[in-house]
Amino acid sequence: MSALTRALSDLLGLRLEGAIGLDERMLHARTTAAIGTVVALAFSLFNLFSEGQFALGLVELGVLLFLLLPALWASGQAQHVRLSENLLLGATVLIFAALVVLGGIAGSGILWVFIVPFVAFFLAGQRRGWWFSGGFFATAAVYFLWLQPLLPLAYPYSATYAIQFLLALLFYTVTAAAFSQLRARFEQQLQQRVEEKSANTQHLLQQLQHQATHDPLTGLSNEVLLSQLLQLAMQHAQKKGSGLAVCHIHLQRFYELCNALGKAGSEKLVRHVAEHLSQTARTHGLLARTGRDEFVMLYRLPADTPAPQAMAHFLSELQLSIEQDGYALYIEFTVGLAQYPEHGQDSHTLLHKAEQAMLQARRYGGQWTTYDVQQDQVFVRHHLLFGKLREALKKQRLQVYYQPQIDLRNGRVVGAEALTRWHDPVDGAIAPSLFIPVAEESGLIRLLTRWLIGECMRECAGWQRLGLDLELSINLSASNLLDPDLLGVLMAELASAGLFPQSITLEITESCFMNAPERAMEILRRIHNSGFKLSIDDFGTGYSSLSYLKSLPMHELKIDKSFVFQLLQSRGDQAIVASTIELAHNLGLAVVAEGIEDEDTAQWLRERGCDIGQGFHLARPMPAAEFLDFVSDRNTAHRAAETIPCNLFIE
Ligand code: C2E
Ligand code: MG
Ligand code: MG
Repeated sequence: MSALTRALSDLLGLRLEGAIGLDERMLHARTTAAIGTVVALAFSLFNLFSEGQFALGLVELGVLLFLLLPALWASGQAQHVRLSENLLLGATVLIFAALVVLGGIAGSGILWVFIVPFVAFFLAGQRRGWWFSGGFFATAAVYFLWLQPLLPLAYPYSATYAIQFLLALLFYTVTAAAFSQLRARFEQQLQQRVEEKSANTQHLLQQLQHQATHDPLTGLSNEVLLSQLLQLAMQHAQKKGSGLAVCHIHLQRFYELCNALGKAGSEKLVRHVAEHLSQTARTHGLLARTGRDEFVMLYRLPADTPAPQAMAHFLSELQLSIEQDGYALYIEFTVGLAQYPEHGQDSHTLLHKAEQAMLQARRYGGQWTTYDVQQDQVFVRHHLLFGKLREALKKQRLQVYYQPQIDLRNGRVVGAEALTRWHDPVDGAIAPSLFIPVAEESGLIRLLTRWLIGECMRECAGWQRLGLDLELSINLSASNLLDPDLLGVLMAELASAGLFPQSITLEITESCFMNAPERAMEILRRIHNSGFKLSIDDFGTGYSSLSYLKSLPMHELKIDKSFVFQLLQSRGDQAIVASTIELAHNLGLAVVAEGIEDEDTAQWLRERGCDIGQGFHLARPMPAAEFLDFVSDRNTAHRAAETIPCNLFIE
């Protein structure tokens, strides 16, 4: 295209095209058709009944019926908008041609003709508008110059009038084109701006969507996207008849590691871990980051591979040993696995169960486990019990029972073991075997032990004030030994009760040495140095590392009741109990046997030199007041029978 043509087409706005949308075109056509219909109807009626204007009225009526009304109908349908425009343009040409030729009342009809270029540009746009109005102008010129004198019915315009008319028509055509061009340019700019803005908005929206569905640090999917992807993966698995595993991966002690590495170091580590996991995920499924130290992997299970087998294979591939800044970091992790469709049919349930499975694995110290509904119920029960126990402690619903400990050689009550009892107003008596583990896991055991120490030391001081020479055994849990305030509490309660530490034996189990044995030993040494006695409870059921027996300042050893219950029926138990008694004595320790349920067992133990007995045959655990009565009855009976060999116990 030459520069001249380009300049000309720019001047005429010929390249301004397509700015009007379909809806707008329909609106233009409908408006024009509606106005045209009303005006044509009014004028046709007027002209039909005016003198000498019948032909014009007839043309107008014909145009109304055959062009304008169909155009009005077509303007309502998107696919017929072009037809509507053409009908309207046709109607314009016909009506205004008739006005020019027939002249209307006293030749005034021609004055209406100037509207033609406006209608043309309005309806047909810039380029077609030019063609149309140009064509109309040319036809008008041809008409006035050549045709008018030839037509007998034509209105007789003078030549001057015709030229003035043509000049005016040209002027109106240019004006209409200029208006139309301005409008088209404005619309084009508007369109451009709208497009720019919506592209911008689209970009921002995409960014927002990405942020809302991805983890900013690793770029992995987050929980929101994960549940959508899981939904799709389930649909896919259902179609293919294959399985799907949801693996909840928890990085152990990651918080501590991150704290040690600082912000930049920990972010780098997270990216490393994500990369590592992604490599494994690439071949098997999809990875998402759902928390600071948590990832979830969707793992496609081949139709014939059971999940545990696939998991074992997957875990064997997954080693989180990472080298960072010259250090080798090994990150331990726990994995919980839930399977589709066995464990859930929707993403929320599956993700929840995978997390539960991970908690189950953590609780039992395994590296991974599959979701187990029974474990889940246990967990829920534990949690409910925890709430109740807290309440019970707060509302002082717990009680201490005392189980007498009896010197097997002479039958005297030498002391008692303090045992916590809990009677819930709704559930009734709840056994220590149920609530003590809950207290230990939840940390409530510290509060419980503090309460117990205070309670039973006060009781013991009361006995001693009555002149009874009784000692007290208190059970400690492993986590009590990690409580830095334990010794302080013991000393404070001892002082407030006015007791000597020698009256108190603290029972610990072998499990106390499992975690942090050095720390536990140190605390026990301090407790011993403060004058308390120490006893190993449930001896023989724990980890049976005898090394602590020689290195710890123990006073007593309690044979676990499981060896005592069937003592007379089991030669194995007899061998264990007899050698434990001997071992304890050789180490200079007193021996207590618990779980004595009959006189024959008591006799057997007595003959083997066991020092102290505890069991339902001798006495059950009882409230403080009952214990006091029991002691006075028993020790009075004992004094009366001091001369008789002691083998009879009051039941
Ligand atoms: P444990 O310290 O070995 O206490 C002895 C348990 O054996 C008590 O059970 C007692 O009732 C039971 N027992 C004693 N003689 C017999 C018998 O002849 N036959 C039978 N079948 N059982 C006998 P209990 O009170 O149910 O306590 C169970 C365990 O709960 C205790 O074992 C102890 O480890 C723990 N526990 C109880 N109260 C407390 C507490 O206040 N603090 C802590 N840390 N643990 C406690
Ligand atoms: Mg005990
Ligand atoms: Mg015991």
